[in-house]
Amino acid sequence: MTITKHYKNLKLVVEDSLLKSIYQSSCGHYPKEYGGFLIGKYSDDFKTLYIEQSITAEVFKSSRIEFTRESNYLKSEFKKLFIDKRLYYIGEWHTHPDGEAWYSSTDLSAMINIKKDQGVSISNPILLILSITNDSLKDFNFFVLNNNRLELYE
Ligand SMILES: [Zn+2]
Repeated sequence: MTITKHYKNLKLVVEDSLLKSIYQSSCGHYPKEYGGFLIGKYSDDFKTLYIEQSITAEVFKSSRIEFTRESNYLKSEFKKLFIDKRLYYIGEWHTHPDGEAWYSSTDLSAMINIKKDQGVSISNPILLILSITNDSLKDFNFFVLNNNRLELYE
């Protein structure tokens, strides 16, 4: 099933099977947070964003209330994805175990820092937050960083 979300005149498209696999990759880390990178592409007019893949973080610090991946991007892996599939890094995801699918002030600062990072060429990175319990994906929200604010895709 395809899920479509909107923010202003922008559209975000994701398969529920990808959300399911992202959720499954985080289960083993419960009750700690876990996360990774979102990979995808924009339409030619940049109005539609297709989220196609996730890469889980291998080097990270996490607790029940915080997730920080080490700032080094997987440059060679990203390069390969671009050459092979024309897909690129479009943002981040992490879980909130037994928490809301809403960003914290730490999450906002992290996204602002990501935008400042010169290794990232996209101007509006996406943040996906998944609210999870010990046995289910309860809720999720996609946000886009715009003028140093995280705006919700509805
Ligand atoms: Zn968070």
